[in-house]
Amino acid sequence: LYILVTGATGFIGAHVVDELLRRGHRVRAATRSIQKGELMKISRPQYAAQLEIVQVSDFSASASFKDAVQGVDGVIHVASPFTYNTTDNEKELVKPAIAGVKAVLEAAAQEEKVKRVVITSSFAAILDVDRKVPPRFTYTAEDWNPLSYEEAVATETSAVVAYRGSKKFAELAAWEFVKERRPAFDIVTLAPPMTFGPIVHPIDRLADLNESNAMLWAVASGKALPVARVPFWVDVRDLAVAHVEALFRPEAGGKRFVVASPEKFSYGLVKKIVEREFLWGRKRVAQGEQEVDDSYDLDGEAAGRELGVRYRSFTETVKNFVDQALNMEYNE
Ligand code: NDP
Repeated sequence: LYILVTGATGFIGAHVVDELLRRGHRVRAATRSIQKGELMKISRPQYAAQLEIVQVSDFSASASFKDAVQGVDGVIHVASPFTYNTTDNEKELVKPAIAGVKAVLEAAAQEEKVKRVVITSSFAAILDVDRKVPPRFTYTAEDWNPLSYEEAVATETSAVVAYRGSKKFAELAAWEFVKERRPAFDIVTLAPPMTFGPIVHPIDRLADLNESNAMLWAVASGKALPVARVPFWVDVRDLAVAHVEALFRPEAGGKRFVVASPEKFSYGLVKKIVEREFLWGRKRVAQGEQEVDDSYDLDGEAAGRELGVRYRSFTETVKNFVDQALNMEYNE
């Protein structure tokens, strides 16, 4: 089949592209940067005939996706701003996230071949920071973070909180679109927590690492232990499988899935893994301790069962990523 992937040159998007290519599908990879797109294509010569790059300069206008959706059978919408380095949260995070989802769905509704759109939401759209233990509780795909739009975009709101708002309101816009417009396709939304793992997207320097992996590298390279805002995580390769299965399994239509490993993590645990798995680990790794917060849970079991995801271990994920990051550092 022929699938459009947005955010294709990002950390998660590139793994989704590879999972589709491996299964023999044709992929149209959308990016704002034709240069990054070309780099992706050059590094996948074996898939030259299956992979096409399309530049979408303005994600907020549905007209810009008109050509991108032409002739595709399905869409995986991964693109959304994920950075905490902002000056205007509404302009840089919240508005583009919502406008991007609306533009993609609007364009998809004009292309009759599109049967399904899978959207990368986030655990950020689920987390309720005021929900406190005891009693112990478990987040599921039924939960929504209670932020109001006004709170999300207030000038005193941090980028971390504004990002949570961006994911919530972008996902809500998708569900509203389907309810009101009744397009020929259905949607599936995926809510992953912190996503870690090896990278397959084009970046030149470790300094350009995506937001989540940058935290692992901070630990391994001896900076301070970052704050673990949640103890939940998933491997990017498992998440890519979830996206592709969500696209093709008929019974997944109309559902929201939490995609999360049953294991919990802390940056203290990252530290221990680096110390154990790497010869230099002990000398270089960040100082300090951090316990795993095991006081509440996130249930990713339904995605395991209904999307056939088998979650990797945290040790494997950290090891694979740090190995790769070290090689990149050596070559810089
Ligand atoms: P990256 O920053 O690596 O990728 C984000 C992608 O989105 C980029 O490829 C970029 O495309 C595109 N993008 C960013 N801002 C805009 C914008 N203003 N307009 C259009 N396109 C934009 O991050 P991830 O791969 O980690 O994130 C991908 C998705 O996964 C996001 O929706 C994020 O919210 C979600 N997510 C990530 C988690 C994580 O821990 N990494 C956890 C949970 C959810 P371009 O090629 O054009 O630059």
